[in-house]
Amino acid sequence: MPIDGAAEAEALHSLLLSDALADAPWFDAHTHIGANDPDGRKATPAEILEGLDRAAHGRALVFAMHEPDGYGPANNAVLAAVSASGGRLEALARVDPNHADAVDEARRCLDAGARGIKLHPRSDAFALPHPTVDRIVALAAERRGIVLFHAGRGIPRLGAAAATLAQANPQARIVLAHAGISDVAELAPVVRELPNLFFDTAWWQVSDVLAAFVHVPPGQLLYASDMPYGPGLFAAFAMERAGRAVGLSDDVLAEIAGGQLGRIVAGEDPIDLGPAPGTRPLGDRAVAHERVVAHLTAAVSGTWGGRRPRAESGPGPAGDRRRRRPAARARRHPHRARPGGAVRRPRRSARRPHLRADRAVPGRHADGGTSRLALRHPLELLRIVERQVVRDRRHGDAAPNLQWRALDGDGHVHPGDRHGLPGQP
Ligand SMILES: [Zn+2]
Repeated sequence: MPIDGAAEAEALHSLLLSDALADAPWFDAHTHIGANDPDGRKATPAEILEGLDRAAHGRALVFAMHEPDGYGPANNAVLAAVSASGGRLEALARVDPNHADAVDEARRCLDAGARGIKLHPRSDAFALPHPTVDRIVALAAERRGIVLFHAGRGIPRLGAAAATLAQANPQARIVLAHAGISDVAELAPVVRELPNLFFDTAWWQVSDVLAAFVHVPPGQLLYASDMPYGPGLFAAFAMERAGRAVGLSDDVLAEIAGGQLGRIVAGEDPIDLGPAPGTRPLGDRAVAHERVVAHLTAAVSGTWGGRRPRAESGPGPAGDRRRRRPAARARRHPHRARPGGAVRRPRRSARRPHLRADRAVPGRHADGGTSRLALRHPLELLRIVERQVVRDRRHGDAAPNLQWRALDGDGHVHPGDRHGLPGQP
């Protein structure tokens, strides 16, 4: 199955391909192969290599997609792909910390040449901190290896846990995937003191990537595509543009493109490329505002396409998005469940939620009662974004008065309202 977005990227090839970084040692920190992911996505090693070729990139870290029946065979497939790749691919083992053999499987793969471990708290359903994760990170540290965490929505305490793990295991290289969207604002004040904490850039929302470039020291950013969930050609373009927007030089961008990852994979120490640029190079731009607009646009666009706009089904990470299993879906929506776990197609009105967007639902909100009303509306997503904005503001990145609420009965959003969220000034 072709890489997602590859045809579109191909059409824009001449615009996307960068001359300035043509000689950079491009090394993609985040690609997947597999055939059993419940999300239906599949990718072969040949497709990943072809994706690298199309973007004119040299190397990639590769690891398994979600494997509901266990990761042993999938890790073997990854290791085989690496040995057949002529040095272009390097492996991360994927393990499920809830599984009894997680540490042994990680060790087996490291012994077989894997450069680290990939962990996915949401799809493998574990929370942090987790004793097995502590052991896995300690094992990686013994080998100066990588531990890459999926970092998207719905992973409580990931940022704090990653910082603790990085501090406790200075020889482990902790990577938060997807530009650390869930935690970048929270980690911004401490990331400079944690030189073994990295963020990969595999993310489709440019304003989020830009936020990472603002807050994270450039030596701690690693270029990544998330193939097959997105094409390297676009990911590299977005990475370079974000880097240039915050004033990074070609030399520094070449390090982010792959120089630093090459060093890490070789077991060397990463180099310091200076502090995070902060918001100053952006002038009047307020990246937090841009994130709000971008996420809302995606949510509204999804609504018009007929998607049911719950926060849980909002635009998540381009990769690693999981479909709910029928049983879980049935638990959540018993009125729509059929015997055997099949889910009935929703009524037409339910499939067109924009028609019901003004129906406010009184009651508790899933995040612990931070609002008086919850809307069945993309405003659910807005609430996630607004929390991010509040956090960004605490670190000085946002103009004042970007506070939103969605509380009144007609479902209108009120920018600038001063009482929408607890904890706001
Ligand atoms: Zn991924």
